[in-house]
Amino acid sequence: MAVLITDTCISCDACLDECPVGAIVDNDDNPSGEDIYYVYKDKCVECVGHNDAPACADACPTEGCIVWDEVGSSKIEKEDRGEVGEAVID
Ligand code: SF4
Ligand code: SF4
Repeated sequence: MAVLITDTCISCDACLDECPVGAIVDNDDNPSGEDIYYVYKDKCVECVGHNDAPACADACPTEGCIVWDEVGSSKIEKEDRGEVGEAVID
């Protein structure tokens, strides 16, 4: 899984100081260039060893703003597993 910040973020900064590993950056430092806060996947440890629950999600006042994607949920990964077939057109 990976932590993602969606465009419902209100830029309140509450999550920035809570992250124990400094994985969250604001829109100015977003490496993707999007005008949105960003979580470095390679830094985020999902708070394992630091907190009982992800501190960013606990701190965030905006419901649905911080979400988790699923491992292997991308289209290419599904194709690798044979879960995506050709579209059938009647
Ligand atoms: S889950 Fe924890 S380590 Fe990951 S971004 Fe949120 S606060 Fe940081
Ligand atoms: S706590 Fe939530 S709303 Fe506030 S900056 Fe972080 S992701 Fe955005």
